[in-house]
Amino acid sequence: MQCDTICVHGGDKPELVTGAVTTPIFQTSTYVQDAPGKPRVYDYARAGNPTRTALEEALAAIEQGGKHAITFASGLAATQAIVQLLDSGDRVLVCEDVYGGTGRMFDKLFAKYGIEFIFVDMRNVSAVAELVNAKTRMFWIESPTNPLLHVIDIAALTALAKQHDILTVVDNTFASPLCQSPLQLGADLVLHSTTKYIGGHSDLVGGAVITADDHLAERLKFLQFAAGAVNAPIECYLLLRSLKTLAVRMQKHQHNAMMIAQALEQEQAFSAVVYPGLPSHPQHALASQQMVNGFSGIISLRLRGGKAATYKFMQNLKLIKLAESLGGVESLINHPETMTHASVPAARRKTLGITSDLVRLSVGIENHADLLADIRASL
Ligand SMILES: *Cc1c(COP(=O)(O)O)cnc(C)c1O
Repeated sequence: MQCDTICVHGGDKPELVTGAVTTPIFQTSTYVQDAPGKPRVYDYARAGNPTRTALEEALAAIEQGGKHAITFASGLAATQAIVQLLDSGDRVLVCEDVYGGTGRMFDKLFAKYGIEFIFVDMRNVSAVAELVNAKTRMFWIESPTNPLLHVIDIAALTALAKQHDILTVVDNTFASPLCQSPLQLGADLVLHSTTKYIGGHSDLVGGAVITADDHLAERLKFLQFAAGAVNAPIECYLLLRSLKTLAVRMQKHQHNAMMIAQALEQEQAFSAVVYPGLPSHPQHALASQQMVNGFSGIISLRLRGGKAATYKFMQNLKLIKLAESLGGVESLINHPETMTHASVPAARRKTLGITSDLVRLSVGIENHADLLADIRASL
């Protein structure tokens, strides 16, 4: 089946007792057992819940090449579970402009357990190869990256990883399962902050890991159960409901983003308009190859006139709201230096180019002409 059909029907099973077409919210913490130690299906809600099972089946079907999905209370809870697959002494190579919260978790929470995290520009595959040693166990990849929208060659890195028995993780949050399929490109684990495009309505926080590997899935399932960072049944339900419109939402997000990126390239006020779908993007060819169903809905912009002009621009916008996060139906603008990437050490921010003139626009599903009018009025 095609992905728009899977979005509507993934995890679908009419409910056994009533025939309800949608999966109910099983708001329970525990389940009756027929005899001691003989549960019917589920025994306790941290270990399992039918609403969560339906969500996990749907996510495993939508992320192409996936077989198992394991969901968590947030994207970072999913990240934490993946890091807990590692041992003290292991080395992880991380793309240098990784999501701020991911870098913070690596540096501030896990480095003290003797796991070594090395940040590297993963656009340069030979720079990555040079850092591989006998202790290297994992590559942590994001593409497109946040907030600079660099495109990383996932297939080249998974090929390198396989030569050295290294696990590859791709944080696919920015592309969504519809635009890019890292498992098909050789990745072992795909991570989503379901808070973003998958949730899509800015009303919940969640995370998921998807894999085709039975053994990794079993270990992650154990971490989900034993560490306990699970989504509540209501959130599983909302995510299932959101998945049904993911394909149509993504089409509109990326159509709007393309129209707006093309229009803003003509505006003198911006010194840079970065969108992987524009031929002016330095890795447009790679993006076209890798993001087979479109370029998603995030645009990064640099304003002429420095910090004062940039702040004024963001505060003048009326329809587009100044807020963290992305991937919702409503358009949001974010200032990475002071908001999403404030936790990135200042020196690393400077080398990366996360400066005061940079803004990140998450294009929603409104009419693109209204969004452009808001941007032009603000300029
Ligand atoms: C938001 C985000 C995360 C973290 O997810 P939470 O749901 O906020 O914990 C991880 N990676 C990327 C790319 C994100 O945008």
